[in-house]
Amino acid sequence: MKLDTRAMRHLASEDWRVLTAVETGSKNHEIVPTPLIEKLSRLRGGASGVHRSISSLAKVGLIARVKEAKYDGYRLTYGGLDYLALHTHASRKDVYSVGNRIGVGKESDIMVVADHSGKQCVLKIHRLGRISFRTVKSNRDYLKNKNAQSWMYLSRLAAMKEYAFMNALHEEGFPVPSPIAQSRHTIVMSLIDAFPLRQISEVPDPASLYAELISLILRLASHGLIHGDYNEFNILIKEIKSTAEDGTESIKLEPVIIDFPQMVSMEHVNAEMYFDRDVNCIKRFFLRRFHFTPTQPGPFFKDAKKTVGKDGLKRLDASVEASGFTKKMLKDLEAAIKKKEADKEGQEGAEDEEDEDEDEDSSEEEEDSEADGHEGEGSGSGSGQEGLLSDGLSQSLL
Ligand code: ADP
Ligand code: MG
Repeated sequence: MKLDTRAMRHLASEDWRVLTAVETGSKNHEIVPTPLIEKLSRLRGGASGVHRSISSLAKVGLIARVKEAKYDGYRLTYGGLDYLALHTHASRKDVYSVGNRIGVGKESDIMVVADHSGKQCVLKIHRLGRISFRTVKSNRDYLKNKNAQSWMYLSRLAAMKEYAFMNALHEEGFPVPSPIAQSRHTIVMSLIDAFPLRQISEVPDPASLYAELISLILRLASHGLIHGDYNEFNILIKEIKSTAEDGTESIKLEPVIIDFPQMVSMEHVNAEMYFDRDVNCIKRFFLRRFHFTPTQPGPFFKDAKKTVGKDGLKRLDASVEASGFTKKMLKDLEAAIKKKEADKEGQEGAEDEEDEDEDEDSSEEEEDSEADGHEGEGSGSGSGQEGLLSDGLSQSLL
């Protein structure tokens, strides 16, 4: 879904109130009846003002009219939720303008944004349930028992969980983006000036990068965590250049980990499967891309398990749960993420698996854009950085 913020500046304060009223109403109503919108917006001008706002909001697609047999009403669209989140970020001065999109997944949009001082950051908009929406039939039962607008609830959970983990990991000194803000289904974080491992065709010393990536898996485990999607798209590689006294230049590669909504605890019933999957993902990639095979087997889950919380290490799985994430929320999100994975495999799985195995260098660039559902707009900050302020496309929100 494309985020177009142009209409934002033209919304009057009454429009924001009405939009917020639709959001509030949709917590309990799949379709928010017009009288309820009137009641919740509490506009001084009364019903006519509300109706005016409703029609301007509907015109720009922030709410959509739904005609039901029982009653007419409106539902919030993804666009509407995007606007509400951006409005919050703007009023808290975390985001001033929105620039280029640097990544598009099936369940997220990644935009470069800037704050008041012009500092560039990344806005991640979670779009969980987007796939489920397309395959509504098979999901009907699942959606039936959920909150009125399941996609909204699930996308918010994904953002909350990702933000909570980013905070916990950042505090513990893990190489992750700095968390800046969260609102609804979105988070704002620092922009990492790096490319995904996926786009790196050569490294001077694969063994040492491999060792570093494995040691990150083990370090996460010792804090009670498994990334759960530890692949070449979710590991960004920073190049740190340095010059020695004798003038020789050297480049050090530093991984930064991103994408945390699916993280699981080392106590999870399927922890071993997730742990092994993360390890194997890295092994497979290093073999394919760099023709590198580690000399030692493992690491193994049972050994990693023994290190959890050792010597007083902070249990981050527990601290995230303590941050207000209930078991039910984790369960709901996990079900949705599993569903998402199954959908993904169903849609592109067969082809993709083959690609994974055969994948030789030549064909990689092309499939890059599709394999993870990212559009070929370039990813990583490389493309984003030139984008935002130079091409005039950046849209200020106020
Ligand atoms: P998804 O859940 O859709 O996989 P990710 O969080 O993995 O979303 O982000 C998708 C892509 O966007 C990444 O592969 C990376 O190229 C880019 N990206 C995400 N966050 C950042 C960031 N903080 N800095 C730079 N690039 C980022
Ligand atoms: Mg990702």
